[in-house]
Amino acid sequence: MDYLGIDTGIRNQAVDSDGNIYTFEKMWKNDKEKNLILYSISNAILNKAKTSNRGLAVEKVFRLDRKQAAPWKGNNRYRTILYYVVKQARLQKIPVVYVDHNNTSKECSSCGNLKDNFRYADEFKCAKCKIKLHADINAAKNMRKRALKMAPAYGFPPPK
Ligand SMILES: [Zn+2]
Repeated sequence: MDYLGIDTGIRNQAVDSDGNIYTFEKMWKNDKEKNLILYSISNAILNKAKTSNRGLAVEKVFRLDRKQAAPWKGNNRYRTILYYVVKQARLQKIPVVYVDHNNTSKECSSCGNLKDNFRYADEFKCAKCKIKLHADINAAKNMRKRALKMAPAYGFPPPK
């Protein structure tokens, strides 16, 4: 099974491993608006995974089978989106693989090089193969790559 890697960047973006950047124009004014916006972005991500027959690769902190509070709730809107996505994915039976997020923003998703890579704001450049791409998309691609390796351990069935 293939996966759609989802990353939430420090520059406040949710991006996927296909190179799509999920963003919205304005900050919400109330809870109703907030839910609508989160819902539409979450659905876009979920529908993409569903229609392309892929699972989702997200960072480990979003495992919902752990009994823990939701520390990401409220402090970062894109992390809140991931929270919705993971919850909905379970209901819609879309497999979710939880990957180790360490170094996903430092490693080159193309050649795997980890050393001396350049990262500034949205830009990532590999010191070895010289590829240049959006830093958050690079991270999302790494998450997909890791999910492909980890699938046997975290794959089916999705946690209850
Ligand atoms: Zn490289």
